[in-house]
Amino acid sequence: MAGNTWLDFNAPKNHEAKRNENGGLREPIITEVGYKTWCINELGCNNMYVLEGTERAAVIDAGMGYCNFRRIVESLTDKPYDVLITHAHPDHIGMMHQFDRVYVSETDVVKARPRMLNGVQVSSGGMDTIRWLTRPDFDMEEFVWNNRQHIGHWEIWNPDESVICRGDLDTEICYVKEGDTFDLGGGRVITAYEFPFHSPGHMYYIDSGEKIAFTGDCVNFNNGAGEGPVSKHLRYCLRMRKQYEEGLFKRTFTGHSTYCGIIDVMSQEIEVLDNMIELDRRLLRGEKVDTVEIPNHLHPEMPPRKGVAYGEGVHRVQVAAPSILWEEGEEHIVP
Ligand SMILES: [Zn+2]
Repeated sequence: MAGNTWLDFNAPKNHEAKRNENGGLREPIITEVGYKTWCINELGCNNMYVLEGTERAAVIDAGMGYCNFRRIVESLTDKPYDVLITHAHPDHIGMMHQFDRVYVSETDVVKARPRMLNGVQVSSGGMDTIRWLTRPDFDMEEFVWNNRQHIGHWEIWNPDESVICRGDLDTEICYVKEGDTFDLGGGRVITAYEFPFHSPGHMYYIDSGEKIAFTGDCVNFNNGAGEGPVSKHLRYCLRMRKQYEEGLFKRTFTGHSTYCGIIDVMSQEIEVLDNMIELDRRLLRGEKVDTVEIPNHLHPEMPPRKGVAYGEGVHRVQVAAPSILWEEGEEHIVP
């Protein structure tokens, strides 16, 4: 790949979201959510985080491609840092080529599905899909297509071509796995945990310093538990609930705010995880659950998917209706 054509350290810093001529925000909102801990929200959609210790810093997720994210990171911290990805979806790895190196789960790379665009196959899966999802030639049309419902509200968020910034570095991909730790110094250690389902190798990260779990998309209303046995999903939920009870974390921050116009949070309450647990249990017990229709936000012309839901208000969770309840050969005892 070519050099740092996107990298312009002389451009004005964009710490504050500003209104454009049409009245919409088009720059990330940066919020301090803990001691030396920042949430960077890209266009009312995905959240990225910067965490700083005494020796190093960590970046969690790399967004979509509508800001010079590296410049933001390096204006918040002057420490050396690692970029940790929760999962290899385009709204979380979109700007990875702004960085020299990222950590991502091997499963998410190997099992990345072939992608279609307008009925045409554009990638063959695995690394080819990762390359396609993060390619630099990417325009507003794709933004509108890919994010027509991802972002908050068009009257609030109103980006144009000028904000597109993907990065074109030849980024080294390192694999992160369950139990890996990143010591930022001063007692702040980030530990990686797996929580598949939303993606095959989804990871979340617990920060021992501020006691925050950064959960990407594995614990939010859109956690995607529809793709595997409910019993297995429930065990991952219960493991995380136990980590909460043991005091490993006190707050969860998700990969999205205002996703599809739903304002779900900065810090997300534990009730969201509890509702995921209750939904899984009801499914396993064969009890009645709410059924919902989930519009296909990438292909609105397609019929909505059938989903199941549990909970009220901002704590409500909904997932695609699962096709499998139990793992093969497993005794049917609801944990
Ligand atoms: Zn996401």
